[in-house]
Amino acid sequence: MIRASVGASTHVGRIRDGNEDSYVVIDGLYFVADGMGGHSAGEVASAIAVGTLSDLHTSAPGGLVTEDQVADAVSTANLAIFMEAIEDPSKAGMGTTLTGLVVTDPVAHKVVVANVGDSRTYLWRHGELRQVTKDHSHVQSLVDRGAITRAEARVHFQRNIVLRAMGIESYVDVDTFPLDVEDGDRFIMCSDGLVDEAADDEIELEIREATDVQDLADRLVDLANRNGGRDNTTVVVVDFETVDETTASPEGRDVVCTLPATDVSRPSRWFAVGAWGMFALSAAITIAVVVSASVS
Ligand code: MN
Repeated sequence: MIRASVGASTHVGRIRDGNEDSYVVIDGLYFVADGMGGHSAGEVASAIAVGTLSDLHTSAPGGLVTEDQVADAVSTANLAIFMEAIEDPSKAGMGTTLTGLVVTDPVAHKVVVANVGDSRTYLWRHGELRQVTKDHSHVQSLVDRGAITRAEARVHFQRNIVLRAMGIESYVDVDTFPLDVEDGDRFIMCSDGLVDEAADDEIELEIREATDVQDLADRLVDLANRNGGRDNTTVVVVDFETVDETTASPEGRDVVCTLPATDVSRPSRWFAVGAWGMFALSAAITIAVVVSASVS
């Protein structure tokens, strides 16, 4: 059985007028989303992303329990943003990144990390920091080709070009990473407001000095602002400990958070449509596409 403790912090930064990041921290579901789009549409997109995931996780019996269910939930969130942008022209083109993890099986110590875009999920294990997710960004593709180094990517003038985002198309390709959690694992989800301002070794220093999960989330946001704060910064920190199953709930969803169970940073009316309805809508669109393809 694994048990989580969670810290979260978000800040507008030192330059921007509004904060378009959102995050969700509920039992077994921890995500950060970094919205983009004019006229506050970015914060709508990021709020729909985390809100839809939250709805799907809490309404499914036992939560999201497989890698496919996590990927489908992210796809449903993608479609919810896409449809909202179609219905309201002032939100046309809005999008968001999304990264985080779902505890799919607390008894078997299993989580699934999911990612779309250039926000990041890191894992701190045995005193080493590794990036679980891979950025869907132009500079990452340059790094992959050996054209620039990871350090150069961080300050590259095209570092803000994202190659994959939620809400832009009706379909999105979702990266998922199933992982077995070890006692003492620490996951850090963050928007690019942190990684554009701070190198991994600076992040590591804060990890070593932080007293607990909330202190670390606050420290990393402070670090981003100290180094310039040119963007919104959001950080969610999740520590896992393994506990004796005889003292834990056999139900398997008794993952304890230090934050309120309903702590969605931006609850919103858009979820009133019902996330499960989006599944039906998704199926209907797929059928319509298939039918129109076979007709033409
Ligand atoms: Mn950002």
